[in-house]
Amino acid sequence: MAGKPDCIFCKIVRAELPAARVFESETLMAFLDVNPVVPGHLLLITKDHYVSLLEASDSAAGELGTVLPRLARAVCQGVDAPALNVVANTGREAGQVVDHLHIHFIPRYGGDRLFGNWPHRAYGLGEQESIRRRIEVALAAPST
Ligand code: AMP
Ligand code: ZN
Repeated sequence: MAGKPDCIFCKIVRAELPAARVFESETLMAFLDVNPVVPGHLLLITKDHYVSLLEASDSAAGELGTVLPRLARAVCQGVDAPALNVVANTGREAGQVVDHLHIHFIPRYGGDRLFGNWPHRAYGLGEQESIRRRIEVALAAPST
């Protein structure tokens, strides 16, 4: 059996669960979210089971990237939305509930007050450089 036996999205890939599918390729699938934040809310998944972006291969992420603009345009055109958010909730603390890599396409309309007004703050003294360095070092390390 391909994928993870008890994973909802693997079950959709194996056609064991229904989905309102709009796109499929050898490696990817996109379908409407069953409980949309906004009508037209779409999910793009890899057919292979990765828990999240944190464990995705470069090639899987590359495949996802190639269809982002096309799907984004189609969602906006399909529900006459002037804008959208493209989001990958990655980990529980970021709101990830389904542990199979997926990207949300959420149509946005003026005045919908959904999200986007994130609080911003300034860096403390030396903090930005310290964090910049740590991320740079992490990027240079061999990927796991
Ligand atoms: P996340 O919080 O990023 O893990 O989002 C998971 C999303 O999957 C939620 O927006 C759910 O509404 C959606 N979802 C869960 N089960 C299904 C399903 N069987 N078909 C379509 N969407 C689903
Ligand atoms: Zn899965």
